[in-house]
This record gives sequence, structure tokens and C-alpha cells, in this order.
Amino acid sequence: MDNKKFRKHAHELVDWMADYFEEVEDYPVKPDVLPGDISAKLPEKAPQKPESFEVQFDDFKNQILPGITHWQSPNFMGYFPANTSYPSVLAEMLTATLGAQCMSWLTSPAATELEEQVMEWLRKAIALPKPFTGVIQGTASTSTLCALLMARERITNFEVNESGFPNDETFTVYCSSETHSSIEKDVKIAGFGRQNLRNIPVDEEYAMNPEALEEAIRNDLENGLQPTAVVATVGTTGSTAMDPVKAIGEICAKYDVFLHVDAAYAGTALLLPEMRWMNEGIEHADSFVFNPHKWMFTNFDCSAFYVQDEALLVRTFEIMPEYLKTPEDEQVKNYRDWGIPLGRRFRALKLWFVMRSYGIEGLQEKIRVHIQFGQQLKEKIETHDHFELLAPVPLNTICFRFHPNYIDDEKKLNELNEQLLHQIQESGKIFLTHTKLDGKYTIRIVLGNTNLEQRHVDAAWKLIKKTASSLIS
Ligand SMILES: *Cc1c(COP(=O)(O)O)cnc(C)c1O
Repeated sequence: MDNKKFRKHAHELVDWMADYFEEVEDYPVKPDVLPGDISAKLPEKAPQKPESFEVQFDDFKNQILPGITHWQSPNFMGYFPANTSYPSVLAEMLTATLGAQCMSWLTSPAATELEEQVMEWLRKAIALPKPFTGVIQGTASTSTLCALLMARERITNFEVNESGFPNDETFTVYCSSETHSSIEKDVKIAGFGRQNLRNIPVDEEYAMNPEALEEAIRNDLENGLQPTAVVATVGTTGSTAMDPVKAIGEICAKYDVFLHVDAAYAGTALLLPEMRWMNEGIEHADSFVFNPHKWMFTNFDCSAFYVQDEALLVRTFEIMPEYLKTPEDEQVKNYRDWGIPLGRRFRALKLWFVMRSYGIEGLQEKIRVHIQFGQQLKEKIETHDHFELLAPVPLNTICFRFHPNYIDDEKKLNELNEQLLHQIQESGKIFLTHTKLDGKYTIRIVLGNTNLEQRHVDAAWKLIKKTASSLIS
């Protein structure tokens, strides 16, 4: 492909992209394919001879697109959103074109300095106090891994980095039984051992019980173990439950345990002054993560990781081989020392575009509307004779089940709701997912897509009710 062809095809793609965004809600949200359907259409070997862009683009439309789940459809209401937006996509085009590696200041000074600045903008916008300072990581999973590694090095005075784990010591980590699965994965990778992760029980609202946390820490201390880190979740993945950061933070301060706050999804709501209660006590946290790539209209990947002790973070990750030394090292940030990978994409650009295109007020307005959608639908579900709310709804994630008042058997209710979700999914009209809360099969609906409007919410509720009644008639 030469420059002339690139220009032509790029224009064609932009037209396709704009059409896609206009039409995305008309696609079946979930593709109608079986495992192996897509790969069966693909040749076993890469072509020996060059193929034209026209052929490739046709294959994209005919072979790939039918196997895509349309996350950007306003009818996508499963998991948590992975929102994009026009300004974010435009910035990604520039990032891909520059193809810059942003590992040191020197390898792209503007990328480093823009990242510093947008992370400060974001810190102020979500009212995270100083001295929190931020860096963009790929995912919340990796951010939390960084936090656990910082905790590990802090408690061992950097000894694990130097000589590995001491034989005679056991380091323990604490999270609630509703915590995201990435914590367990991170605990394994960081070398703590899964057995040393304590799942602290939750209260009836699915938030961590701080008394039980303190008891577990004390118990481990009495047994000669080393309580190392607590992960509190602000907005659990199951039901957006809010662990009490303040109470947990005070316990961490008392026992000198590292506190990491995982607000991967809910953190975006901190843009709203009326939602900042979620982060009360955040000054006790050593680190905090939230994902603009979930609810804040910024393409995956963009995870905002903040730490209070910048020196601890850098000392945990720093390496200085000769070929990476630069004359400015003393004066600048080298983000390769702020996390796991060396190479880094220029991700600050899309955050910059998003924050400037919407403005803080524009972002707040969208988030507020999403929360209102959530509260309105929550009321409808709560007051409906045949539906039951299964968890509090602090934001816009609603956990519910179909519960006709003549069915009491829990097993039957679980089966019924599994069937309901399956039928909704197969319709391709909306996309919902499930979890289990207190053993109950729970349907989750999340009302946070970039282009979500009232009419989508109304249509979704209508479809849920209709599908449910068809199951019992
Ligand atoms: C989504 C989620 C994660 C994982 O986010 P990634 O960026 O995909 O790693 C972690 N914690 C919580 C609470 C989440 O909701």
C-alpha cells in the first residue's frame, strides 16, 4: 500500500466508521455464531502474495463483523460498558499514526508531559487529594498488581526485589468475598500465594465488613503472619457495592497495612460532587485505580492509577540498563519505571481529547443521566409484583430477578432466571449478563453506554417483562 492508497482507504474507513456509529443499535448485539464458525471461514495460512485492501475490507464486513459483539450499541447493557466516543476514536487514529513508544521522557517528551497533565486534570476532577499522583496503565488488573507489588516491597524493605521471598515468612492480603477476580490473579502473580488471600465476609449490602477485616488481620498477626495489603472495592463488579473506605482505611492505618482502592467502574461517578461520599476516607489509601475505559467514554485501554508515594512506586519498578539512560533522567518522569511493561502506547492523547470535547460539565451531565436511568428503572423493578431487586442500586447497575409471587423454590427461581437471561440474549435485541448474589441467580442490567437514551431503557424493560411473561404462560 502506498501513501495515495492509504489516503483513499482511510477516507473510506472513516465513512464506514461514521455509518457504523449511526447504525450500531440496529445490529444484533450478540452475534448469532457457534464456536468455530468464524475460524472455519479463515484460510489456514497467511497469503504468499499481497492482497488488495478491497478484498480485505470485504472480508472484514462479511467474515469478521458477523462475529462481533457490539459493545458500542446502546442496547449493550451487560458486564460493565467499555465505552468509546467520537473524540476518543479520533485520538486513537492519531496515536496509531504516530506509533510513538512512551517509555521515557526522551522517547516522546510531549507524551510524558501530557500524561502528567491529564492525570492531574483527572485527579482534580474526581477530587482525589494531593499527594496522589497518577499514571496510565493498561487495565485495572495491572494497576492492582502494581499496588500489590508496592505493598510487597514496602513491607520487606525491597528485599523481595533483591533476594526473593524469605523462607520463613508469610504475607497475607485481604479483600471482600465480592472482590473482582483480578485480585486473586494478582495475588498469585505477586507471589503471595492464593492461600494467603483472605476473603472477608460482606454485609447484607455486599460491602466488606470492617470488623471481620480487623479480626482477620489480628488473627494473622497472632499466628506470626505479615498482613501486607487490603484491597477495598468502590463499586463491586457483581452489584456495585461500596466497601467502607474510611473504616477500612482506619484499620489499615492502625496495623500499618497497605490499602489499595479498586474503583474500576464506579470511579467515573466521582466526577459528580454528590457521589464523592463513595471515596470518603480515601486519604488513608496508598493507591487508587479507576478505568476511564469503562464508563468515561475513552477507548480501552486507559486505566488511571494513582499512588500517594511516588518514590515507593518508582523504587519498586525501576531498572536502569545502560541503553535506557538519558541526560534528562534527573529532571523528568520516565513512565517505564511506573509499571510493568517497558513499551507504552500514547494513551494520554485520547483522555485529553475526551476531557476537552465534553468538558467536565459535559461528562458530569452524561454520568448524571445514566445514574437517573438506573434509579428510575430500579423503582420500576422494585415496585413490580413479579420482579425482585437483589441488591442496593447506588449507581446505574441493577441486580434483579424475575420472581412470580407463586414460586418460592430457590432452585426453580434460579432456573427460571437463567432461562430468562438466555432468551433475552438470544433475541439479540439487548445484551445483559448475570452474577450470583447470596446463591441467587441474578440478572444485571447496566445503564451506562455512551449513546444510551431513555427510549433504549424503556425498550429494554419492555422486552424483559415480555420475555418473562412468555416463560410462565
Ligand atoms: C472491571 C473491573 C476490574 C478489571 O478491569 P480491567 O481493566 O479489565 O482489568 C477490576 N475491578 C473491578 C471492580 C472491575 O469492575
